[in-house]
Amino acid sequence: MLKNDRLDQWDRENFFHPSTHLAQFARGEAPNRIVTGGHGCHIEDRDGKRLLDGFAGLYCVNVGYGRPEIAEAIATQAKELAYYHAYVGHGTEASITLSKMVLDRAPDHMSKVYFGLSGSDANETNIKLVWYYNNILGRPEKKKIISRWRGYHGSGLMTGSLTGLELFHKKFDLPLAQVLHTEAPYFYRRPDPAMDEAAFVAHCVSELEALIDREGADTIAAFIGEPVLGTGGIVPPPAGYWDAIQEVLAKHDILLIADEVVTGFGRLGSMMGSTHYGLKPDLITIAKGLTSAYAPLSGSIVSDKMWKVLEQGTDENGPIGHGWTYSAHPVGAAAGVANLQLIDDLNLVQNAGEVGAYLNAAMTDALAGHAHVGEVRGEGLLCAVELVKGREGPAFFDPADKVGAKVAGALMERGVIGRAMPQGDILGFAPPFCLTRAEADEIAGKTAQAVAEVL
Ligand code: PLP
Repeated sequence: MLKNDRLDQWDRENFFHPSTHLAQFARGEAPNRIVTGGHGCHIEDRDGKRLLDGFAGLYCVNVGYGRPEIAEAIATQAKELAYYHAYVGHGTEASITLSKMVLDRAPDHMSKVYFGLSGSDANETNIKLVWYYNNILGRPEKKKIISRWRGYHGSGLMTGSLTGLELFHKKFDLPLAQVLHTEAPYFYRRPDPAMDEAAFVAHCVSELEALIDREGADTIAAFIGEPVLGTGGIVPPPAGYWDAIQEVLAKHDILLIADEVVTGFGRLGSMMGSTHYGLKPDLITIAKGLTSAYAPLSGSIVSDKMWKVLEQGTDENGPIGHGWTYSAHPVGAAAGVANLQLIDDLNLVQNAGEVGAYLNAAMTDALAGHAHVGEVRGEGLLCAVELVKGREGPAFFDPADKVGAKVAGALMERGVIGRAMPQGDILGFAPPFCLTRAEADEIAGKTAQAVAEVL
């Protein structure tokens, strides 16, 4: 291990960290944290500090850290065959087995899975498949994609455009022209506090209908959404939202892409978010929980309906011109097989549902009545604490106040990681599925202390 001062120097001089204030980091004004190990729900840093990871990395280490079953599967695969490509019909036992395991866990009407590397590239693949599909069907004008404000779908050119958060557009010349945004199903921030849930759902539907009318349904190819808004604030949809949205999409022959990068493989206490909320998507995006982040791997799950057209397309045009060198990488696929097996063996989907409900109840109790906590909300092992200036109204903080980051900092001092969500005033939790009730109590109790210290 290099001496600490040398590592710090190299870090600041050489390493371009994502989603980081580059200038502050280079000047040494923002802290670095060098992570050296992890076990269960905890990570350790090079100073020997042990932290309870209430966000499972970036809501991805779903089975927890330090699982020998997955590490050994990766090592065995790397020793036997570190790489072979998946082009023109090639495969490995790991990639073929994983495709079967994914389809077994997906809704019945899904047909095939394409493997990529990240949630962003899987969504790029999905948009290309949507465009290809409409071109094969002879409707080249039907290309626009509707996303939601506060949706998060990645940070590539198209996926960064789909993402409905200003930070990911600013100074990057995004969003691209083919992308449209509509209302987020964010009941707490509804435009009129007099609306009940049903009225707010009707409002979201009428906003969507108005957008489709304005643009013309024959120009709109697909709607993309996370079953539960994640990075945009951890916001479960109001009752009836998805049924109502799907009705509109069906009426206008608009495809549905369910971005299950966060919700796939158990986070809501159901295997898939689509089944949890009764979605019937044409494409499903998967990543994080597919391997619990032990190796990079993502996927695009394609429905029967779309698959038939893709096949027709290759009969008419030859092989599909899409693929990455690392598509279905054998080491990632081996990690995926071991990870999905472990989730079953340890009953972790059920645990995510049960301990998730416990965490949300514990957080609600711990923060009850606090003048600056507007709402505690969640679903499964997702939980958000919305910090407000005042509960009447409610009155919101200026994002520049960075209250989320301040509370997350105070929580970190107490040994727990929570995530200040990008809009500034929401603290998010998405712990590993092996979380115990005692650990859930620790997260909730220390969050209450941190909120009380800062606000
Ligand atoms: N989609 C959703 C819902 C996500 O939460 C994320 C990442 O957080 C992505 C897509 C992008 O995934 P990646 O960061 O692996 O590119």
